Amino acid sequence: MKLPTFEDIWQNSLQWQPTEKQLEKWEQLYQEILLINRQINLTRITEPQDFWEKHLWDSLAGVIGLDFLQYKDSLKVIDIGTGAGFPGLPISIVFPHWKLTLLDSTQKKIKVINLFLEALKLSNSQTVIGRAEDIGHLKEHRETYDLGLIRAVGEPSVCAEYVLPFLKVGGTGVLYRGNWEKEEELNLKTALKQLGGKIVTVKQFQTPLTKSIRHFIYIKKVALTSERFPRSVGVPKQKPL
Ligand code: SAH
Repeated sequence: MKLPTFEDIWQNSLQWQPTEKQLEKWEQLYQEILLINRQINLTRITEPQDFWEKHLWDSLAGVIGLDFLQYKDSLKVIDIGTGAGFPGLPISIVFPHWKLTLLDSTQKKIKVINLFLEALKLSNSQTVIGRAEDIGHLKEHRETYDLGLIRAVGEPSVCAEYVLPFLKVGGTGVLYRGNWEKEEELNLKTALKQLGGKIVTVKQFQTPLTKSIRHFIYIKKVALTSERFPRSVGVPKQKPL
């Protein structure tokens, strides 16, 4: 099984196209994931078109074409709850001059990502094992990132409590969502008031193959986050702000 390239779809949906080299690396990543997936269940999404849409297109759609990002700079980026490496790994391949931290609490997943980083020679990315609630308080990570990404980790207000402490003032958080309900937006706004963030914009997409609904929520950090956040492990999920 080989990944489709779909240059025209990249162009039509995001006004952007991957280079030959990026296509090669994505293919390599795909093959590595298929191989490991025979032993441990990393991802259910393994069919070529499914993988292309849900892991590649979706990961990139969240960060491409934003007029408030300084793409040429060496941005510091964190992917919180990266799982098998999404959205972080495809982004790491496309932006080799960015510095990525891939964070997950599951040691098994991080070990596998380390293998991928080695195989693909992605020297711009590092991994961290731990909980966002703990790592977000460490000096080397707190308020040091330009961009924080989070996909499929929890409710929006919980994601906000995980992401905001990592961002510099002026930095951007991206919540990768499917549907986007008014109530979620209200809850998120309540959380952001306490965390020092505000919603900049919400982008809506239809995914190019299956026409599923996607929303990307862009949050700007406007003030330092109180040391009270994130709260202890488990509390953000049990008692969302
Ligand atoms: N972002 C990936 C994986 C989503 S599954 C994707 O979209 O494909 C959610 C992942 O978040 C799991 O791998 C889980 O281990 C991790 N996770 C959940 N809560 C976490 C926390 N508090 N801190 C760090 N990682 C967390």
